[in-house]
Amino acid sequence: METKTSEHAAITSEKIPAVNLKAQYDSIRAEIDAAMRSVLERQAFILGPEVAELEKAVAAKHQCAHAIGCASGSDALLLSLMALGIGEDDHVIAPPFTFFATGGSIARTGAKPVFADIDPRTFNLSPAAVERSLESPKLKGRVKAIMPVHLYGQCADMDELLAIAKRHGLAIVEDAAQAILAHYKGRPAGSVGNTGCFSFFPTKNLGGFGDGGMITTNDGMLAQRLRVLRVHGAAKKYIHSVLGLNSRLDNLQAAILLAKIKHLDEWTRSKREKAATYRQALLRSGLCQPDAVYPSQRYPVALPYAAPDRDHVYHQFTLRVLRRDELALHLKEKGIETTVYYPVPLHVQEAFAYLGGKAGDCPESERSAAEALSIPVFAEITDQQQTRVVDEIKAFYAS
Ligand SMILES: *Cc1c(COP(=O)(O)O)cnc(C)c1O
Repeated sequence: METKTSEHAAITSEKIPAVNLKAQYDSIRAEIDAAMRSVLERQAFILGPEVAELEKAVAAKHQCAHAIGCASGSDALLLSLMALGIGEDDHVIAPPFTFFATGGSIARTGAKPVFADIDPRTFNLSPAAVERSLESPKLKGRVKAIMPVHLYGQCADMDELLAIAKRHGLAIVEDAAQAILAHYKGRPAGSVGNTGCFSFFPTKNLGGFGDGGMITTNDGMLAQRLRVLRVHGAAKKYIHSVLGLNSRLDNLQAAILLAKIKHLDEWTRSKREKAATYRQALLRSGLCQPDAVYPSQRYPVALPYAAPDRDHVYHQFTLRVLRRDELALHLKEKGIETTVYYPVPLHVQEAFAYLGGKAGDCPESERSAAEALSIPVFAEITDQQQTRVVDEIKAFYAS
């Protein structure tokens, strides 16, 4: 009896992290160690055969003719904009409810980000809001591109955005940093716009042991320009035709990512299963309704919407909840790590104050910033851990 009680105590007090990179490493340690050792033995570290092989693998998975490795997802965005010739006096439309790099990359080129609000159901850029921005008289003819974000691993409304882009002659740079293997109506993320930008930041669905990124494209000219831009604009060594930057993917990272990408389908399938488990458990808990966009007093939790015509890869499983910060604190006290992506939308970030954005400009983004809470989802999370997460959410609203 006594052992049973203490075992039970051990289980309930066990910490549940937001992600568990150690568990993933443990599951394929031999493959990763061998891949790293082979690079170390060769002592060749920059843009080698592993990078080329990873580029091929990502291009194939995303049905793109080209993939270009670079130093980070942020650089993938910056390089894409540079390759498209976007710079000073240009404007690029992006959602404000995203990681800073989305807006930061635009501003880094000298162009101005124009923040258009999101669709509250998907958390992604609203095509209607993009249209409204394009109608603004002071932006007439000055917008050059749209940068939709496939937030949390679900693609934005690409058909609608493509139609707008076509009508106005705009490029589309997909911020697919969270969306490796995601699909939109059967088309892989990153194959729909002019370029797709991926991140291999350690906690992304395909994460390295440091920074890394990749750009996908079906445009041969853009691909060529991107390959030149990532090596300081040198098509030939020491001969610089344009101003580029140093943004390369390491062989060591590529070798690690090549070992991991073999498991990515399986990990993604597993994440989708975990998401389905959360959905069922949360619906059973009586905390939410199947189709509500917003939480309410009666139903304090709203499930993430998964559009039937796209494959969500659940980089995050993100709820909208009432009393978000209090719930996060309650879960933390119970050893459950949650994350708020993102607490401050870009249009009200200090770094973008010069753009003149203010609270109220993008109400759906602001509301999401106050309600969004990502709960632990990773391939190795157990049923028991997921049950505990849902039970603790229920306990919080019952109190
Ligand atoms: C992670 C991320 C980036 C940036 O990627 P890094 O590799 O960290 O530079 C850009 N956009 C979004 C939406 C991201 O989640």
